[in-house]
Amino acid sequence: MSNVTVCVRFRPLSSKEKRDHGDDICIESLDSETFTIKDEKEEGFTFSFDKVFYEKSKQADVYEFLVLPIVRGAVDATNGTIIVYGQTGAGKTYSMEGPNILESDEQKKGILPRVVDGLFACIRSSDESVKYTIKLSVVEIYMEKVRDLFDLSKDNIQIKESRTQGILLSGATEISLLDPAEALQSLSSGIANRAIGETQMNMASSRSHCVYLFTLNQESTTEKRVKSGKLILVDLAGSEKVEKTGAEGRVLEEAKTINKSLSALGNVINALTCGSPAKANHIPYRDSKLTRILQDALGGSSRTALLCCCSPSTFNASESLSTLRFGARAKHIKASAFVKGNEEKYLKKNGACSATRDESFDIIL
Ligand code: ADP
Ligand code: MG
Repeated sequence: MSNVTVCVRFRPLSSKEKRDHGDDICIESLDSETFTIKDEKEEGFTFSFDKVFYEKSKQADVYEFLVLPIVRGAVDATNGTIIVYGQTGAGKTYSMEGPNILESDEQKKGILPRVVDGLFACIRSSDESVKYTIKLSVVEIYMEKVRDLFDLSKDNIQIKESRTQGILLSGATEISLLDPAEALQSLSSGIANRAIGETQMNMASSRSHCVYLFTLNQESTTEKRVKSGKLILVDLAGSEKVEKTGAEGRVLEEAKTINKSLSALGNVINALTCGSPAKANHIPYRDSKLTRILQDALGGSSRTALLCCCSPSTFNASESLSTLRFGARAKHIKASAFVKGNEEKYLKKNGACSATRDESFDIIL
């Protein structure tokens, strides 16, 4: 059964929020795992997660707690997934890349450059009889079509399943990574192609999921065996409720597609962590391209980290609450408020799979 760690990150108030809506903050920290959030009707909800990163948190804190154990696992051939979730502007890309993927300020570097450094550091310190190779593919899922960000002519990549290699992005470019600097240049070129789409498709980056797939193969010269581990990082499309803005036409279609895939992701994580063998046979991976790509990085003995990114502004309280409910349900924590301790008692009393745990993720529209 898969392990899922769910954390929340609140970014600082933005200058736009301060200018347009004032300094009001909807959250109150209780400790490093628990906080209260007030909705627009001033009703308070208490949530507990594996860790809460407040506005002063550092990029290194997020990496070390949430990501580093998964990187170490991948070097040991355990598949892992790191997902950032939240409304547009909540800090997903900042957490994933930093202000810029080639950011030189060590402190500001996001998850991806740290993963690159971490992978190469683990490999350098490993047994010399093991030869590692790392490959990288970067794709974007937009309107249920998978586009290769290393080769834009490949705009409809098919997802296939192989007996020996598991889920494959058939024909997607795989770049061999030889050192950290080159790996960052490759990531940067993929991300730049995402940005081209952005001007053509009107903020495509917030309407598409970006998937970074690292494949690590290790060959032992002494034991004559080859092991392989996958590490997938996903910068999800914005989870905001588009119907509020009266969206029509293409924008509404985009929103429906995003909602469907985010719901599918929630359902898959929920089913995987449910603990019931009956449910484990019915993991709905095929409900979206996103969950299909993640199938073998989420299932089995793999590890999953979900970072729920939120604005602390009262103006965005309802979107933040919706993000927190998604995270809580992925972790099987009852979405209405529990103070830490009570929640554990609740889970014990109700067994591994309570009624709330079986709720489906029909979250947004
Ligand atoms: P998203 O990818 O979720 O749409 P971004 O990551 O682009 O949002 O963040 C929106 C803005 O907020 C950016 O200008 C980003 O630099 C800033 N920001 C986000 N998180 C933080 C943070 N933890 N500290 C400082 N600035 C942040
Ligand atoms: Mg973004």
